[in-house]
Amino acid sequence: MKLIEKFQNFIIDLDGVIYIQDEPIHKAKEFIDELKKRDKDFIFLTNNSGRNSEGYRKKLKSMNIIVDNDKIITSSTATAKYLYENYNIKGKKAYVIGARALKDEIRKIGLNLVNGKEAHKADFVIVGKDPDFNYEMMKIANFAIRNSAIFIATNYDATFPTPEGEIPGAGAIVSSIETASEVKAKVIGKPNIYIMEIAISKFNGNKEQTLIIGDRLETDILAGKIAGISTALVLTGVVSREEVSKSEIKPDWILDGIWSFLKE
Ligand SMILES: [Mg+2]
Repeated sequence: MKLIEKFQNFIIDLDGVIYIQDEPIHKAKEFIDELKKRDKDFIFLTNNSGRNSEGYRKKLKSMNIIVDNDKIITSSTATAKYLYENYNIKGKKAYVIGARALKDEIRKIGLNLVNGKEAHKADFVIVGKDPDFNYEMMKIANFAIRNSAIFIATNYDATFPTPEGEIPGAGAIVSSIETASEVKAKVIGKPNIYIMEIAISKFNGNKEQTLIIGDRLETDILAGKIAGISTALVLTGVVSREEVSKSEIKPDWILDGIWSFLKE
């Protein structure tokens, strides 16, 4: 039996699984076409907070992978949803380090974004990957957290795969602020259960029939284990077979790449 036949629902990571930066992985489009042909349900789930769902829809479209926005969950949208559902945010202020997509999502739920001295008294510090991150931003976040702001991170990925190699991810920024403020962030993205619950709710909570496909052990595969679903690791991202054998996190399946699903 083909692996694709064993499951009805697929949670699919993007970076390192479907593409590496702007280069699609071999047969990524064909895999999605096959899911559609077989009437499978799927969503894309990314820890990347660099774009919103619409941004990823466009990116996927440029690779001829056609999906609706509601098939894409990002750590930005999940973070905004989490804040909205768990805190009284009316009239509250947030200091946000991250891409425009993250700031837009935070603004959309009604938080006021603040900067500079005003941010020292922010109610929330929200951190994602930001290529413009610098010491001054670390300092502001540190003051706000020391003044009892709630510290939230979109994700804790240490690095991020690009054609030139692994570059620092949100986790590198978050941990610098944790070190400075001596407070641990609450992390929304994989492997946190919160983002997984949003994903699995799209399949009416059906775990038995659900497989997560990812390229990272400590995020994708661990997320699957924590959520109680099956896990498949692809080796097109940041992890090698040797690293898997050394890790305590063991995926249910290890595949060379997304194309392996199409083989007999
Ligand atoms: Mg990935």
